[in-house]
Amino acid sequence: MRLAISNLDKSFQGVPVLRDVSFEVGHGELVSIIGPSGVGKTTLLHIIAGLERADRGDVATDRPITREEPAILVFQDYVLFPNMTVFENVAFGLRARRLPRAEIRRRVTDMLGYFRLQDRAEAYPAQLSGGQRQRVALARAMVVEPALLLLDEPFANLDRNLKMETALFIRATQREFSTTTVSVTHDLEEALAMSDRIGIMLDGRLRQYASPREVYLRPADEQTARFLGPVNRLEPAQAALLGLPAEAALLRPESLCLTVDDDGPGRIESLHFAGHYISYQVSLHGTALTVYSLAPVGETGQRVRVGLCASGADLRESIDNHTFPKHGS
Ligand code: ADP
Ligand code: MG
Repeated sequence: MRLAISNLDKSFQGVPVLRDVSFEVGHGELVSIIGPSGVGKTTLLHIIAGLERADRGDVATDRPITREEPAILVFQDYVLFPNMTVFENVAFGLRARRLPRAEIRRRVTDMLGYFRLQDRAEAYPAQLSGGQRQRVALARAMVVEPALLLLDEPFANLDRNLKMETALFIRATQREFSTTTVSVTHDLEEALAMSDRIGIMLDGRLRQYASPREVYLRPADEQTARFLGPVNRLEPAQAALLGLPAEAALLRPESLCLTVDDDGPGRIESLHFAGHYISYQVSLHGTALTVYSLAPVGETGQRVRVGLCASGADLRESIDNHTFPKHGS
């Protein structure tokens, strides 16, 4: 199923929530809309699902949404039926469609196998882990073969170490069933890892809609760049010192590299251990820069040179990929 969202506006009690939101989702595509809490992500999903009406704009699909080709919304808190077993929860949509018992059993059993829940078929939701509950919710959605799958914060209730695993699992499932999927989330890394395209929502507007690589490396503007992670803003003179075109540039902390040089123009002002990298605060000609390094460089007070991380041959490509447009351009 293809989906075209055009010019959605939505206000609650006169307070605008969504402002002129438009984007398209191709058949079998997985799209994530990411944005801070309260930006209107759930509202957007509810409008797509038909649970809420937009004040203006349109949600169009290339085929009608029907009982046979439904749009299924998986709510943030999963809302499993507490007094039904896992099997009964997953069977619910098929029973409501009055399918033959044998077919229900076969399809539910297949789905429980795919979602690694076969051993939990007779368990009740309260007896499950968070990850298992999430998989039951997905199995319950997928068993009716939805033409459109809508996921509201699919990682919100999961332990940190389960989030990425779940993202990759959702990705694999969505590929396996070719289900057109829209997910809304504030979990950036998971969205970047699993999505074909990412929409960045700030202040109720969709600021950018592009591949994960593009939104991360070429954000539409400085605010979008900062939402996705820390950035250094270099003024023209500093950009020129790094061999970049002499215009203001935005660079990710991992795009900069430090080299120890007692006569270097930079100075390590502070550093902290961040687990899989070390974060350095470096002053360079009066500008404070953040630089992430996998390897230790030096202690506070050490003088350094600051450069772009790239081998000589890759430098041009690296600059192209890591230099963002000027703010406002
Ligand atoms: P998100 O999912 O991005 O956190 P929501 O779509 O839930 O954001 O909410 C966006 C804004 O709209 C919030 O300020 C919220 O309080 C408000 N809102 C959402 N639903 C309603 C409603 N039914 N009535 C009034 N205000 C609402
Ligand atoms: Mg929400």
